[in-house]
Amino acid sequence: MGSNTTLDPKAWTWQASLRDAIRSVDELLELLGLSADQLPQLDRSPDFPLLVPREYVQRMERFHPKDPLLLQVLPLAVENQWTPGFHIDAVGDHASTQEPGVLHKYQSRALLIATGLCAVHCRYCFRRHYPYQETPKSLAQWDESIQYIIDHPQIDEVILSGGDPLSLGNAKLFGLIQRVTNIDHVTRVRIHTRFPVMIPSRIDREFIELLEKTSLAQNPKSVWMVLHVNHANEIDPALREACGKLRRAGAVLLNQAVLLRGVNDHFEAQRDLCKKLTDAGIIPYYLHQLDRVTGTAHFECDQHQGEMLIARLRDELSGYAVPRFVKEIAGQKSKTLIL
Ligand SMILES: *Cc1c(COP(=O)(O)O)cnc(C)c1O
Ligand code: SF4
Repeated sequence: MGSNTTLDPKAWTWQASLRDAIRSVDELLELLGLSADQLPQLDRSPDFPLLVPREYVQRMERFHPKDPLLLQVLPLAVENQWTPGFHIDAVGDHASTQEPGVLHKYQSRALLIATGLCAVHCRYCFRRHYPYQETPKSLAQWDESIQYIIDHPQIDEVILSGGDPLSLGNAKLFGLIQRVTNIDHVTRVRIHTRFPVMIPSRIDREFIELLEKTSLAQNPKSVWMVLHVNHANEIDPALREACGKLRRAGAVLLNQAVLLRGVNDHFEAQRDLCKKLTDAGIIPYYLHQLDRVTGTAHFECDQHQGEMLIARLRDELSGYAVPRFVKEIAGQKSKTLIL
């Protein structure tokens, strides 16, 4: 399906949006009215391919080679440069893997790699080199991982991550959620996802009904969703509407952003992001110093710059609107608070 197809909005599903997402650098540039000579050297066939839904491209500004949304998805040749200090597994995912697809790094929470698929490929992704082929593919394959959680009563929160867990269909996703919420000592579920941002129609009626069953049922488990919004321009009416539905269905919404050079490394960008997030009912939770993963060095900002941004945010915004500035140091008991 191309962009010229006439659509019946009722028949159009999030799966169709995902199939119709842009996978070619040249098509993306054409849609934005850009030519390659306006941009740094591109990589047209990267190992980690271009993937960006049209709904997200629509929020990019045309004729703007430094658009902050474009920079998050455009594959550049510089990603192939080797930079000292940057590694394939920068955050120690491998060392904290207990069973296939289960990372147990922090005492009270276990993280499940629910899938390797995403709605978008973020160039700064810290799991861009993750060995997803080693993780469970079907509900039955989760048996050992679920048993691991049952055997570890200190785990009271299960985090679904990936990849993007909302890449799974509703039946599979909530089948997995039910398996973990059936465990008595698991009182909370957390879902990390960029789907509501990338393809807001992913939050369909069935998703909302299943979410309500989890969070508002007789024996409810609290559901926390962490969206990954890096720039205010990502927040549009469709995302706000999806957030309203999620909140009415009982989810608490948090945001985690990454400090990215050229994208959100100045005060106005961070301030506008925090304001628009809180207006949409999303609490800014973390601002991450970039994980030093191979291929992402050109996004790195000076840590001191992040500290100054946060200090200025504190002067202007409500206390709850200022995220915690953190970095992940492999082997620590939690994320490390910088400010
Ligand atoms: C970041 C992370 C968590 C969650 O940490 P919080 O500080 O609770 O948000 C859990 N498990 C792993 C493996 C993580 O990387
Ligand atoms: S959505 Fe998350 S896991 Fe997927 S590419 Fe982006 S940062 Fe990586």
